[in-house]
Amino acid sequence: MNNSVDVVVIGAGQAGLSAAYHLRRAGYEPGTSFVALDHAPAPGGAWQFRWPSLTYGKVHGMYDLPGMRLTSDDADPERPSSEVVPAYFARYERAFDLRVVRPVHVDAVRDGDDGRLLVGTSAGTWAARALINATGTWDRPFWPRYPGQETFRGRQLHTAQYPGPEAFAGRRVIVVGGGASGVQHLLEIAEVAAATTWVTRRPPVFRERPFGEVQGRAAVALVEQRVRRGLPPQSVVSVTGLPLTEPMLRAREKGILDRLPMFERITPDGVTWADGRHVEADTILWATGFRAAIDHLAPLRLRERGGGIAVEGTRAVRDPRVHLVGYGPSASTVGANRAGRAAVREIRALLDAGPRPAPPDGRWSPEKVPARR
Ligand SMILES: Cc1cc2nc3c(=O)[nH]c(=O)nc-3n(C[C@H](O)[C@H](O)[C@H](O)COP(=O)(O)OP(=O)(O)OC[C@H]3O[C@@H](n4cnc5c(N)ncnc54)[C@H](O)[C@@H]3O)c2cc1C
Repeated sequence: MNNSVDVVVIGAGQAGLSAAYHLRRAGYEPGTSFVALDHAPAPGGAWQFRWPSLTYGKVHGMYDLPGMRLTSDDADPERPSSEVVPAYFARYERAFDLRVVRPVHVDAVRDGDDGRLLVGTSAGTWAARALINATGTWDRPFWPRYPGQETFRGRQLHTAQYPGPEAFAGRRVIVVGGGASGVQHLLEIAEVAAATTWVTRRPPVFRERPFGEVQGRAAVALVEQRVRRGLPPQSVVSVTGLPLTEPMLRAREKGILDRLPMFERITPDGVTWADGRHVEADTILWATGFRAAIDHLAPLRLRERGGGIAVEGTRAVRDPRVHLVGYGPSASTVGANRAGRAAVREIRALLDAGPRPAPPDGRWSPEKVPARR
């Protein structure tokens, strides 16, 4: 293994594999001129950890990876997506000989003395001229904090640990969160639970009509504006609203989707609102989303005051050697595909322009971006 490469890709989900595929097409050799590292035990990105009741049929709008289709033989709608997608990714990695190195956990990326980036991992350090970060969000579940949370005698868990509805049979369950995952959990759990209560910060916005391309672009543009300003990205789904499916219409009729605003505090046996209302519960399921898993980039000091990394296209504004794919506006399967291609195009131009001296303070800045040849 050559630990000095042109490009390190961190993460081998949809975004990282798209990047690796485009690097390969651009003539970079896996293992010698680029390497893709992933800390998961097997191919599949975050899909391998998704709950068993999330069948492939329930996953809407998943795009194929570039260059190879997910065939209808693979895509049995009754099978868990945690089996279908990883099998497809594994086949993809083999077909394009991407040689993902796993399990390798990236702890920290630092500036080297010679203008290279040093990627510190559980398997040693890689030196790279450019970096494609494709670490997704699954590894950073977001748990909001509420007073009294630690006193709750029941079970609390997050979407990232959701085992499927059976575990909630006969229980009184509070589902927190107005996103797609929260609604899916709620509908499944309501079939077997003694009682469900749905709590969301904002009133959920239901979408009666199918989502068109124009609205899709507008939603992505909103997230794009945020990351350009260096604000933490919202998920694309959070700005598209919830599509009203048949099961949701039925659930709405039964009152399952009657939503309550956020409670004020958590008590040992449930939750309480400011007006004195109290709901008893055995379980609180936090379907409160995820944040970008980018802590390992902290030594590069890319974050803006707003808390996010300012990104132009896929390039980190503070360091043109670093690209973020599957981040903010590209955090969807179609966005991840496109971002992989865009990042490789820019990195190629940067690296083809030849070696450049590091700026005197050892930091890169937008002015240091070399002109294309
Ligand atoms: C429940 C759910 C359903 C979804 N359904 C859809 C859908 O239907 N359609 C759609 O377009 N999008 C969907 N999305 C969003 C979609 O999953 C993502 O946009 C896309 O698959 C993410 O790909 P990714 O490569 O960015 O991230 P991931 O698939 O999360 O891959 C990131 C990879 O990085 C690795 N990694 C992370 N940190 C490190 C580290 N420090 N060191 C080494 N490796 C690391 C992980 O092991 C992982 O393999 C869904 C998301 C969720 C949570």
